[in-house]
Amino acid sequence: MALSASFKPLAFAPASGLTKINWKWLLQRVPMVALALLSSWGVGGFILQSGKANWAVAGVGAGAFDLVFLGVIALADQQLTTKRSTHVLYWALNVGAALVAALMNTLYYSGGTYASITAESVTHGALFAVFGLLYSLYYHGVMSEALQKDEEEAEANAARMQCPHCGDWKKNQAAVYSHYRTCPKHPKNAPA
Ligand SMILES: [Zn+2]
Repeated sequence: MALSASFKPLAFAPASGLTKINWKWLLQRVPMVALALLSSWGVGGFILQSGKANWAVAGVGAGAFDLVFLGVIALADQQLTTKRSTHVLYWALNVGAALVAALMNTLYYSGGTYASITAESVTHGALFAVFGLLYSLYYHGVMSEALQKDEEEAEANAARMQCPHCGDWKKNQAAVYSHYRTCPKHPKNAPA
């Protein structure tokens, strides 16, 4: 099985022919969702605290923030960020989302003003966002490596060549040539 398949939400079980929920994937994602939810609580709370928006606006704001955060991670999982521009954007979006979350959460727990930010409100506000960011970056790194391994495996398989005499598979054409010396079916090796 391709390594990256274990990082996908649904797993196909060939034995039963059924597609099942990949519980490992789900468990790996729960911390990310939980941290993003905690962060968005502060984002929503901060919008509400301003007194200029009602709970519906705060809810949409918090939800939009969460969706961007999780959407970026989900999208990035599906492809290798070998393109430099995509890679930079991924980091910018992740770091940006974490900074916004940390700032809004800290302000929310400080009562809404920069003047009243304390060490305690920073602890309340910033840590979840920082952990969420670190976790998602770690996960993204693991996923990228898995995708890269799959790609290398596919490339190695594509280079494989078969011995025309005995049908053995070798890793490339050069390996087939050197196999001729010991191939039991090669005409040169036939008993005289
Ligand atoms: Zn052979």
